Amino acid sequence: MDDRDHVITAKNLSRADIETVLDRAAAIERDPPDRDRHAGRLLGLCFFEPSTRTRMSFEAAIKRLGGDALDMGPVDSSSATKGESLADTVRVIEGYADALVLRHPSEGAATMASEFVDVPLLNAGDGAGQHPTQTLLDLYTMRENAGGLADLTVGIMGDLKYGRTVHSLAYALTKFDASQHFVSPESLRLPRSVRYDLHEAGAQVREHDDLDEVLSELDVLYVTRIQRERFPDENEYRAVAGEYRIDAETLERARDECIVMHPLPRVDEIAPAVDATEHAHYFEQAHNGVPVRMALLDLLLDDTDGEEAADATDDSANGGSR
Ligand code: ASP
Repeated sequence: MDDRDHVITAKNLSRADIETVLDRAAAIERDPPDRDRHAGRLLGLCFFEPSTRTRMSFEAAIKRLGGDALDMGPVDSSSATKGESLADTVRVIEGYADALVLRHPSEGAATMASEFVDVPLLNAGDGAGQHPTQTLLDLYTMRENAGGLADLTVGIMGDLKYGRTVHSLAYALTKFDASQHFVSPESLRLPRSVRYDLHEAGAQVREHDDLDEVLSELDVLYVTRIQRERFPDENEYRAVAGEYRIDAETLERARDECIVMHPLPRVDEIAPAVDATEHAHYFEQAHNGVPVRMALLDLLLDDTDGEEAADATDDSANGGSR
């Protein structure tokens, strides 16, 4: 993980880190932890952008571990409207909580904020940047349903330019030697920086503008929403909206075992008729947010328990003064 246990980008998650979290999530599903495992621990939720799944699954996760969530609430009722800087906001909230979850519209916001706090900070999406905890649940869903994570052939389709879940997932899949096929219109290809990083990391990557070029080879088809809110110009959005849509007929050309995933929310990229097919795994994927975030919090809070114990020992060695 990152320094001081911040989780900011999937680039800094090693294969071993990822496996540790996924193994812990599987153990939690098999044998749920005691309801008071992390009693008294508080998770600060700082969402400067809309969220349903991420916010609620983090809240469910900390509550199922015996702790509680402190939600900053809507941005327009927070001090951000009075002009408070993000750095000041997180510095204040770290005094109330044992870990922070931050979602912000600006790419790089989580990196910047993490420099101001000592408690673990989890990036829950920074603009078009990264969304590493989504990646952990994406990988968990693949591992459970696509026969493991080794040597997968994964198609990632839709908005590869602005889709932060795509950027995080691509970094992580590279660590598992996946074959990655990126399917999008020309204007929504992966950002140059991500492409560069993948190349440097030796990723096996191909780009396509037609899903049919690769569909029959895929173990996983990961569909994404066109990120309308990130387009500088509504006309540019309209030019690509609705272009990449799959329905039950599309999937007749896929392998029977191919699983379809989507970080959600979907707009119209996946026809509702797909929901009833064996391919559909996106609701299960969203539900996996709870055990995976429980696992991550459990590991991070265990670590900070250790630090507190060490601090207490140092304190008693120093006569208990602080
Ligand atoms: N929920 C995901 C995110 O926050 C995907 C999306 O919004 O399209 O990035």
